[in-house]
Amino acid sequence: KSTAVRNIDGSINNIKEDDEEDVVDLAANSLLNKLIRQSLVESSHRVEVLQKDPSSPLYSVKTFEELRLKEELLKGIYAMGFNRPSKIQEMALPMMLAHPPQNLIAQSQSGTGKTAAFVLAMLSRVNALELFPQCLCLAPTYELALQTGRVVEQMGKFCVDVQVMYAIRGNRIPRGTDITKQIIIGTPGTVLDWCFKLKLIDLTKIRVFVLDEADVMIDTQGFSDHSVRIQRALPSECQMLLFSATFEDSVWHFAERIIPDPNVIKLRKEELTLNNIRQYYVLCEHRKDKYQALCNIYGSITIGQAIIFCQTRQNAKWLTVEMIQDGHQVSLLSGELTVEQRASIIQRFRDGKEKVLITTNVCARGIDVKQVTIVVNFDLPVKQGEEPDYETYLHRIGRTGRFGKKGLAFNMIEVDKLPSLMKIQDHFNSSIKQLNAEDMDEIE
Ligand code: ADP
Repeated sequence: KSTAVRNIDGSINNIKEDDEEDVVDLAANSLLNKLIRQSLVESSHRVEVLQKDPSSPLYSVKTFEELRLKEELLKGIYAMGFNRPSKIQEMALPMMLAHPPQNLIAQSQSGTGKTAAFVLAMLSRVNALELFPQCLCLAPTYELALQTGRVVEQMGKFCVDVQVMYAIRGNRIPRGTDITKQIIIGTPGTVLDWCFKLKLIDLTKIRVFVLDEADVMIDTQGFSDHSVRIQRALPSECQMLLFSATFEDSVWHFAERIIPDPNVIKLRKEELTLNNIRQYYVLCEHRKDKYQALCNIYGSITIGQAIIFCQTRQNAKWLTVEMIQDGHQVSLLSGELTVEQRASIIQRFRDGKEKVLITTNVCARGIDVKQVTIVVNFDLPVKQGEEPDYETYLHRIGRTGRFGKKGLAFNMIEVDKLPSLMKIQDHFNSSIKQLNAEDMDEIE
């Protein structure tokens, strides 16, 4: 059995459950990303565009003014602190706001401005004086739907007569109720019920249909089919938009099935490198010994902020208890916590209230570790059969070349793990120097 987990860069990893004890699902990690996100994710890549009609001119905008938005919407955008469109928005917004409307499939890692873009499209197409659902947005979970709704509320702060309603489980509306809100955000199952069983939404009046987090959506049983059933009942002039953080073949097939005649926009993610990272290892006998070595370098790692990785949840817990008993201030980020609790620990860490975070792989995949300058592998990431897990090593330690800071990485290595470490060194063609933990002067 394996579980899909989203990395911080939006890519998806399938993690075997017996490899790893903390398991986070895609939707939960996506939510975590949203809860802790503070700003746009940068990218040095160009946006790739595939137009449905290659002969039509391709517009891009450098300012929000160029979009000729309603006054109150522009005010909302500036009130959110946005100065100019993000990279993906530069290309996507003119297409999304074009007359006649154009369909769009857009893929870029989380944090690049997709949600803000489609919320803007919905708000600009809504007619506040018409009191029935006009925009429909599908999200994979209740919590993700609420997050999107918050963006609508923020951006639409000055669009006073525009209102949002949530088609999510638990929001019980009697059959045949006259819904007067213009924007509906919900999960596919409930939306389907609202449309066909309860007759609350007239799909033929929908102008903008958004399918968000398509990759998470297809990962959830039944959601693709629900979405397709909803989409089939939409009028042909309805604008259809699909967003995804990743683009495996499965997402692509689904997108093509559900979005007719689309324009396609892609922004490739930044590659991770180990170029700016000085890597060390300390050779140890056993776990207690690794612990001692960690304590020896503790003074050096707390100069900045550090994340310590353990392979299992138990190990992480053990290490946390030991360190706290020895008077070190550390906090534990564990998969046992709810997404909200995890977000709050990450927030404290980001605010500098915590200096050292102990965690397992899966948990940390949701964290933007840009500010972390020191990473400790208390356990080397290995797959079954002791084969090194190169990808996880890179994810823990690597930084994106252009935007990443310099960093330090320490590996606590039991003697029998040394061959695995050497394989990692060869694989990345980068040197990992041995360190004598008693003599920290060796760290340059
Ligand atoms: P995605 O949907 O791709 O994950 P979001 O739309 O949620 O990205 O944007 C990520 C973060 O960047 C959010 O905090 C959002 O408020 C902010 N953001 C989005 N667009 C802009 C912009 N043009 N300028 C500044 N910040 C932006």
